[in-house]
Amino acid sequence: MTKLNQKQQTLKGTARYSGITLHTGVRAHIKLNPAPANSGVTLVRVDLPERPEIRAVATNVVDVQRATTIAENGIGVHTVEHVLAALYACGIDNALIEMDGPEPPIADGSSAPYVAMIQEAGFEIQDASRKFYRVTEPHYVNMGDSKLVILPADEYRISCAVKYGESMMDSQYLSVPVNKDSFINDVSKARTFCLYTEIAQLMVKGLIRGGSLENAVVLKDGVVVCKDGLRYPDEFVRHKILDVIGDLSLVGCRLIGEIIAIKPGHPSNVALAQKLVGVMSTSVPSEE
Ligand SMILES: [Zn+2]
Repeated sequence: MTKLNQKQQTLKGTARYSGITLHTGVRAHIKLNPAPANSGVTLVRVDLPERPEIRAVATNVVDVQRATTIAENGIGVHTVEHVLAALYACGIDNALIEMDGPEPPIADGSSAPYVAMIQEAGFEIQDASRKFYRVTEPHYVNMGDSKLVILPADEYRISCAVKYGESMMDSQYLSVPVNKDSFINDVSKARTFCLYTEIAQLMVKGLIRGGSLENAVVLKDGVVVCKDGLRYPDEFVRHKILDVIGDLSLVGCRLIGEIIAIKPGHPSNVALAQKLVGVMSTSVPSEE
């Protein structure tokens, strides 16, 4: 049972990281900073005049093709789901993320480097109550192959199933609670992956310019191509759960409910986040 009398948390200090971005393929820098209570997660484009800020909320999502893009006043950042997943799952409610371009470094394609940054920066408890949204009835999104349902439950949990290819071996299922320990151990190290057949289409669209076996796992004819083998036998379903956590963090509060996700993707994840924001705006807040 999730205790509702929790305090908000931010980072105690700062942490920096730099590396190549996945889609634009350039070197980028990111810095995580503390932020005041009740401010949520905000991204700042420090490369632009007047340092425009973009709040990481579901209503700011402008694109969900391969990655999640958020924007405010025409200024955007994309592929933010891995850093957002790490912040949410590690229990950071408020943070200011400085970026010197539209995309953060992809690092190794997982959330592990962001978890390391959060641990380096440390945790600070703030004098404000954490906001929760307890799901009281099912809500769902049904988008082609992607189906997401959130059900009432005592804790935030994600149960996810994926299938790639034709054999039974290509099916993966996992159910995990969303908390710091399970995220660090069971989810954070799972890398981005793509199907070999998708690579050419992505390149034609000008995407994955920084993609390589340093930051992604490739599936070709049922064979896994990656550096140093898989990190978990079912790494794909774990990365899908990571993306769900990052995209659903855009609701802007702590969720209590179980998500059942079948072949989830950014379009379905964001649609569920937006649906929940709509439901929350018409219901009594459950801050206690
Ligand atoms: Zn991802």
